[in-house]
Amino acid sequence: MTENKNELMEKIVSLCKRRGFIFQGSEIYGGLAGTWDYGPYGVSLVNNIKNIWWKKFVSDREDMYGVDAAIIMNSKVWEASGHVSGFSDPLVECQKCHHRFRGDQLEDKNKCPDCGGSFGEERQFNMMFKTYVGATEDETSVSYLRPETAGGMFVNFKNIIDSMHPKIPFGLGQIGKAFRNEIAPRDFIFRSREFSQMEVEYFVNPKDWKDSFERWRKIMLSWCDDIGLDSSKVHELEVADADRAHYSKRTIDFEFDYPFGRKELYGLAYRTDFDLQSHSTASGQDISYFDEESKERFIPHVIEPSLGLDRTVLAILCNAYTEDNLGDETRVFLKFKPSIAPVKCAVFPLLKNKPELVLKAREVFGMLKKEFSGVVFDDNGNIGKRYRRQDEIGTPFCVTVDFETIEDNAGVTVRDRDTGKQERVSLEDLVSYIKLKI
Ligand code: ATP
Repeated sequence: MTENKNELMEKIVSLCKRRGFIFQGSEIYGGLAGTWDYGPYGVSLVNNIKNIWWKKFVSDREDMYGVDAAIIMNSKVWEASGHVSGFSDPLVECQKCHHRFRGDQLEDKNKCPDCGGSFGEERQFNMMFKTYVGATEDETSVSYLRPETAGGMFVNFKNIIDSMHPKIPFGLGQIGKAFRNEIAPRDFIFRSREFSQMEVEYFVNPKDWKDSFERWRKIMLSWCDDIGLDSSKVHELEVADADRAHYSKRTIDFEFDYPFGRKELYGLAYRTDFDLQSHSTASGQDISYFDEESKERFIPHVIEPSLGLDRTVLAILCNAYTEDNLGDETRVFLKFKPSIAPVKCAVFPLLKNKPELVLKAREVFGMLKKEFSGVVFDDNGNIGKRYRRQDEIGTPFCVTVDFETIEDNAGVTVRDRDTGKQERVSLEDLVSYIKLKI
C-alpha cells in the first residue's frame, strides 16, 4: 500500500517513537548521531529476540557455552587481533562544505553529493572508540570500547578449556554491546555507533570446517524463520575473495530487503585459526587443544555466525509493518510473530464505567499475567480505539470481558490481530488457547 520507500521508513521511525519502541539518543539535547534508545515496547522486543536466540544458539545445545566478557579489554587484545592497525574505513572530506563520507560508499568519488565540491585526499579512519583506563591519560593507559563481541570469546578460550573441559567441536556464545565510530551512521538503527551483537565462535578441527559451516548456514536460515522474517526477503551472498577479510577463507552475508535497499543483516565467516593463533603468539600463552582420542594437539579453527541485534529489530519491524482495511477503516498494524511480540495479550472490560466488568477483567488480567510476560490492561476509550492501539504495537490477542462473561459465564471474546475475527473462549480454556498460538 505504501509506494514510496522513504515514506515507509518515515512511517516506521515515527511509529517507533510515537508508541515507545525507539527514541533518538539524548533527544532533548538535540540527539547524538548514531545512538538510539529503546523504550518500553522496544526493550521487550529486544529481550524476546535475545531470549529466543540464547535458547536456540546456546542453552538448547550441549556443545555451546555462554560467556559475558568485559567491554573494555586490555589494548593488547586489539593489537593482536589487527584492529588497532587495520579496523578502519576510507574517509574523505569535502573541501568546500567539510562534510565527511566513507570513500567506498560514494557513487562519484570526484564530487561531494551535498554541495558538488571536490574532496581532499582519502585517509584511513580507525573506527574504534579510544578511552583511558584509570587516572593517567597517556599512551600506557589507552584502551578501546570493543568493536565486536568476538574478542571476549577468543581470550576466554583457554579459561573455558581449563574450567569446562569441552570436547571439540564446541562453541562460545555471547550477546553484548559493540561500538564503532562509523563515519556515516544512517538508516535508523541499521548503522549506529553503539549496537549489540549476538555472536558465536565455534571451534572445530580444521578438517571439519566445511560441514560445520554448512550446519551453521542452515541454523541461521532457520533462525530467520523462527523470528518471522519473510524468507523471500532474506538472501545469501557469497562474499568474493577480494571482498573478504584477509583471515577468512569463506564468508556468506545474509542480506535483508530493507525499505532502503538490500543490505547486510548477518555474517557467517570461516576465520581459520587466525584469532587463536594471533592471541597465542601475542600473549605467549599456549592456546592449543589436545584431542584425547586422536592424541593430536592443534589450534582450533573457527566458524563465526555473527548476528546484529539492532539490524534484527529493524528487519522484524520492517517485515511486520502492515497497512490494510478492516471494516471501513484503514489501519496500521505490526504483524509480529506472537513469540516476538512485546505484548502478547491485552485485556479489556467492555465498558469502563461498569465496576462488575472492570473487576472481572482485572481478575482475567491477573490470571494471564501469571502465565505470560507481556500482558496489559486497557480500559481507555472505546473498544475500537483500544484494538487500534494494540494493533499498532503488534499485540496478537485482545481479550474482552463483557456482560455475557459475568451473567452467563460465557467466557471472554478473543480477537485476532491479523483477521480482526473474534472467538468466544471459556475462562478455563483461555490460557491454553493463547499458549497454543504463541
Ligand atoms: P557493514 O559492512 O554493514 O559495515 P560489517 O561487515 O562490518 O557490516 P561485521 O563486522 O561482520 O559487520 O559485524 C557483524 C554484524 O554486526 C553485522 O552483520 C551487523 O548485523 C552488525 N553490525 C555491524 N556494524 C553495525 C553497525 N554500525 N550498526 C548496527 N549493527 C552493526
